[in-house]
Amino acid sequence: MKFVIVSRDDHRSKTIKATMKQYLTEFDLEYSKEEPELVISVGGDGTFLEAFHRYHHRLKETAFIGVHTGHLGFYADYTPDELEKLIIEIAKTPFQTVEYPLLEVIIRSKTGEKEDRLLALNEVMIKTADGSSVVLDVEIKGEHFETFRGDGICISTPSGSTAYNKALGGAIIHPSFEAIQLTEMASINNRVFRTIGSPLILPQHHTCMLRPMRDSSFLISIDHYTNTYTDVKSIQCRVAKEKVRFARFRQFPFWNRVRDSFVSEGNQRFGE
Ligand code: NAP
Ligand code: MN
Repeated sequence: MKFVIVSRDDHRSKTIKATMKQYLTEFDLEYSKEEPELVISVGGDGTFLEAFHRYHHRLKETAFIGVHTGHLGFYADYTPDELEKLIIEIAKTPFQTVEYPLLEVIIRSKTGEKEDRLLALNEVMIKTADGSSVVLDVEIKGEHFETFRGDGICISTPSGSTAYNKALGGAIIHPSFEAIQLTEMASINNRVFRTIGSPLILPQHHTCMLRPMRDSSFLISIDHYTNTYTDVKSIQCRVAKEKVRFARFRQFPFWNRVRDSFVSEGNQRFGE
C-alpha cells in the first residue's frame, strides 16, 4: 500500500512523521506523494484540512487519518501514545473506513466564462471584500427564500458543524446525515430586511443559491483558504456527490469526540 504523511511544521509533528515514515516503510509500505492510498496528517485539524485539500482530487482512491500533536482534534483524533499500535494496524491493511459528506460550492461569474467548483470539508464562508455588509438573495431549491443583509453567511458540512458553524450558533450534526447547514453572521433585521434568523439544515439535492444584490466582490473562504472573487453572479451550495473516507482502526464515536472537546474529558465511553 502507498501512503503519504502531511505534517505541521513543528518539531513534535515532524519527529512523529519521521518515525511513522520509517516504520511503515520497514513494513514494506511505499511512500508516495503522488498516488497515496492512505494520507496521514500529523498536527491539528488545520493540518488535516491541508492534507484533505492537497489530495482532494484522489478521494475515491484515498483514505485519510489524523494524528494530533496539540489538543484533541476532530479530524486528528489519534494521540501520539497510540502510535505504535496505529503503525501496526496500518501495516496490516486492509482497514475499515467511514465516509463523511462534503459540501460542493460552485462560484459563477457574471461574464459566464468562469465557473469554479470547490469542495469543502468544513465550510464555505462568504463576506464582502471591503468589510461592508453583504446583501444576498437566498434561494432554496429554485425558490426565493429571503434577502440576507449582514456580515456574512456560513454553510457547513456535518463534520464542519463543530467548527465555525458552532461559533455562529449552528447545531452540531452527526456526519451520518447527508446535509449542509446555513448559518447567518450578524444579520440585520428591521422593517426592510428580514431573515429567518435560525440555522437551516438542508438535505441532499436541496441546492442553496446565493445571488449578490449589491456588491459583486467577495471574500470567500473554503475551510482554511480565503480568496477574493470579483464579478460574482452566484454561489451555489449543495451536498457533494463525493465523500471523504477516513481509515478507522478503533471506535471513537463522534459524540465522544464532541464531549471530550467541548464538555469534559469523560472516562466512560458510550457505544456507537
Ligand atoms: P484555526 O484558526 O487554527 O482554527 C480555529 C480552530 O478550529 C482550531 O482550534 C482548529 O483546530 C479548529 N477546527 C478546525 N476544524 C474543526 C472542526 N471540524 N471541528 C472542530 N474544530 C475545528 O484555523 P485552521 O486550523 O486553519 O482551521 C480552519 C477552520 O477553523 C475553518 O474551517 C473554520 O471552521 C475554523 N474557524 C473557526 C473560528 C471560530 O470558531 N470562531 C474562527 C476561524 C476559523 P486545530 O487547532 O486542531 O487546527
Ligand atoms: Mn489550526
